[in-house]
Amino acid sequence: MDAAPALAGVIRAALSEALALIMPICCAGCDEPDTGLCEACRAALAPRTQRRLLRGVDGDLPVWSGLAFEGVPARVIRALKEDGRTPLAVHLAPALAAAAARFGSGVVYVPMPTSRSSYRRRGYRVPELIAAKARLPVATLLRTVRHVGDQRGLGRGDRRRNVALSLRGVRAEGRRVVIVDDVVTTGASLEEAVRALREAGAHVVGAVTTAATPRRVNGRRPADDAFETHR
Ligand SMILES: [Zn+2]
Repeated sequence: MDAAPALAGVIRAALSEALALIMPICCAGCDEPDTGLCEACRAALAPRTQRRLLRGVDGDLPVWSGLAFEGVPARVIRALKEDGRTPLAVHLAPALAAAAARFGSGVVYVPMPTSRSSYRRRGYRVPELIAAKARLPVATLLRTVRHVGDQRGLGRGDRRRNVALSLRGVRAEGRRVVIVDDVVTTGASLEEAVRALREAGAHVVGAVTTAATPRRVNGRRPADDAFETHR
């Protein structure tokens, strides 16, 4: 496949880890010098599981997340995703593990595919990395079949159109699965994953994410359980 770009990414990731050893570092959460993650920011990554529902054709699916994507958790996740700071994954793993604990055993965890360009740039796949540190049984049953444009800045309807029919399930027949992603925003990508896995014969019981973008209604966060709007 694309071994050369993947290798380039792996080398880049290794270099950035090596550089982190000799370059001055600062806390990914608050910029305090000389630490990768300070005590206060470690504490801010303590899991606080929250649930949303993906409303779909066969009833609602729970999406459990370990953290709110804001403040320290958002900064740490961005540092892992954009700055190559892979050692942070171990500090995010408890949040994902706490979300996964809601589903118990007897399921396999299916990571959302990382786009080819993101993998080439980073040299690692973020959902897989955190899932491995959380010791979740992972099965790669989703493939990207169509390039998807950047989701940032798009509303829910546009995101859904953007990702429609972009994924395909493979070797998924009869498997009980939970989808894994790093952050859920509108749920449009997760819905596409649910569609693809169901079409491939999987029984999708829900999804887990390390963090969830706080949902705001008229600028305020609703007090009740946040719901995704209906399909
Ligand atoms: Zn800090």
